[in-house]
Amino acid sequence: MTDCIFCRIAQGEIPSTKVYEDDLVLAFRDLDPQAPEHVLVIPKKHIASVLDFAEEDRELAAHILTVVVPKIARELGVDVGGFRLVTNTGADGGQTVGHLHFHLLGGRSLAWPPG
Ligand code: IMP
Repeated sequence: MTDCIFCRIAQGEIPSTKVYEDDLVLAFRDLDPQAPEHVLVIPKKHIASVLDFAEEDRELAAHILTVVVPKIARELGVDVGGFRLVTNTGADGGQTVGHLHFHLLGGRSLAWPPG
């Protein structure tokens, strides 16, 4: 999947500002931040969207949500004031990169509903 920009970031072919990395997951700063803290959390393996999580990805999904996101939120200090975790899915969801990613946004008061 060398035409996938996030696969290329995960493989180190495109530079990123990393905030977390392990064997399964990479988190890096969004190029166009929408909040003081805006991090993208991605599985290193190519999964197109949250709709494409397979049975074999259960452990990966749990790892992202129960280990990686809380760790990053605490390290960024947004666990206290609160933050938003969102995964845009498909055209109506506003997904522009076809590699599953969770936006972790914080550091300011976020409006709801989104546009
Ligand atoms: P989406 O619109 O939910 O798919 O989010 C894609 C996000 O990826 C956007 O917030 C972009 O700013 C971000 N993005 C695109 N290319 C890069 C990159 O090379 N490095 C970091 N962030 C990127």
